[in-house]
Amino acid sequence: MTVPGTSLLNQFAAIVGEAYALRDPSSIVPYLTEPREKFVGRTPMVLRPGSVAEVSAIMRLAHDTGTAIVPQGGNTGLVGGQIPSADASQIIVSLTRLNRVRAVDVDSNTMTVEAGLTLAMAQTTADDVDRLFPLSLASEGSCQIGGNLSTNAGGTSVLAYGNARELTLGLEVVLPSGEIWDGLRKLRKDNTGYDLKDVFIGAEGTLGIITAAVLKLFPKPRGISVAFVGVADPPAALALLNVARGKAGTALTAAEIMSRLALETVVAHLPGARDPLAEPHGWYMMLEISSPNSQADAEQIVEAIFETAMERGIVEDGVRSESLEQAAAFWRLRHGLSDVQKFLGGSIKHDVAVPVSAIPELLSRAETAMQAVIPNSRPFPFGHLGDGNIHLNLTQPADMDKKAFLARWDEVNQAVHAIVTELGGTVSAEHGIGTLKRDLLPTVKSPVEMGVMRALKAALDPTGIMNPGKVL
Ligand SMILES: Cc1cc2nc3c(=O)[nH]c(=O)nc-3n(C[C@H](O)[C@H](O)[C@H](O)COP(=O)(O)OP(=O)(O)OC[C@H]3O[C@@H](n4cnc5c(N)ncnc54)[C@H](O)[C@@H]3O)c2cc1C
Repeated sequence: MTVPGTSLLNQFAAIVGEAYALRDPSSIVPYLTEPREKFVGRTPMVLRPGSVAEVSAIMRLAHDTGTAIVPQGGNTGLVGGQIPSADASQIIVSLTRLNRVRAVDVDSNTMTVEAGLTLAMAQTTADDVDRLFPLSLASEGSCQIGGNLSTNAGGTSVLAYGNARELTLGLEVVLPSGEIWDGLRKLRKDNTGYDLKDVFIGAEGTLGIITAAVLKLFPKPRGISVAFVGVADPPAALALLNVARGKAGTALTAAEIMSRLALETVVAHLPGARDPLAEPHGWYMMLEISSPNSQADAEQIVEAIFETAMERGIVEDGVRSESLEQAAAFWRLRHGLSDVQKFLGGSIKHDVAVPVSAIPELLSRAETAMQAVIPNSRPFPFGHLGDGNIHLNLTQPADMDKKAFLARWDEVNQAVHAIVTELGGTVSAEHGIGTLKRDLLPTVKSPVEMGVMRALKAALDPTGIMNPGKVL
């Protein structure tokens, strides 16, 4: 693609107004690097439209002039999908100003929100009407609904409520042609032809720009209790998960696991964090119980889980939150894990999922395999045990050069992904494909699947202007 010239940039700027067309390099910088600083792009302009009509006009001009567009939400994506290429040919469209709550329909249990609303604000909007919007990620203060849907985000509540796709009833999308598809339906049942919303959810901005969505609301739990538990190893964690499922049923709303190194690191580097347990343990689990009845009910369920797990010798020690503040403090430890790894130097990441029953085998085999590739490297696994998704990260050996360690990224990935594939798993559970895993896609999808995906892309974006170079 060619770099857009000044006259074309002026036409784009005229659509949103000069104040919302950033050209000055210093104001553009924050849009060019993603959280891990693995991808750094260049762009001649960041457009910040304030209405769907402006997004549509931008896409129409882009379509007519063959200009590549990169949609960007909160810029918290972890696979480089929101970052433009390095040749300065692609214009970023930031959805940040499209952040209105259009409607809340309590009787239908839905809210209709614009793509730029942050996830935290969406949660607050639900809370204000005594409802729950359950999507929850460590990045929720910055990530936006449009980004969440475009990556089909997962997070800590997938076990009970499903991922972003399952939380969405309707969408409004600006197509690469500039046409607006208004699919903002609130229907729980609608079998009228192909489900177009599912095409755009998880498409990582390669098929169109999501501008609004109808999201599902749920009853707000009347009691929440979080247990923080020490266990010897992953088989014990799995046994505890089974006890918790049996005692709590649908009240089990999260089941997270973290290694000792993960807990030690977050306690050492997150201000105000402390180890909830007196003695060190090999592994830790967090179980969240949400009761539709009362706080006492939630606490009783946790006690019943503890009792059975202690009787069976599954847990070594455990505490339950005594207040909402303490529950939040436990969650702070879990949500801090992504960020604190940087204090140990370089980190090679994996976002994999396997059937829940295969998690102990995955952890044991992958740790051995990673350490065989880089001796003395330190596995730093944590994640969503309840839905089978583990962030199987590897921290560099203390005495190794960070650059030399990170240069082995692909080699370590290959060793881990081979085991994941053998166990019937996936190499991207919730972060998506973006640029980071684009070349992996044909190795995990059949030629038939790749063909269908390419046909969809060609049908919706025949000139290839929508986030080129991502996913396919
Ligand atoms: C600390 C931390 C913790 C995280 N934890 C989790 C987790 O638990 N689970 C999880 O799933 N993810 C997690 N993530 C990843 C990230 O937060 C999610 O992928 C999030 O959904 C991205 O939203 P965003 O608004 O930041 O999107 P961006 O990063 O801006 O964009 C992500 C992708 O979506 C596209 N896009 C953005 N907005 C639109 C739109 N309106 N229309 C079309 N395409 C669009 C972009 O082009 C890009 O391909 C975490 C990230 C961080 C930094």
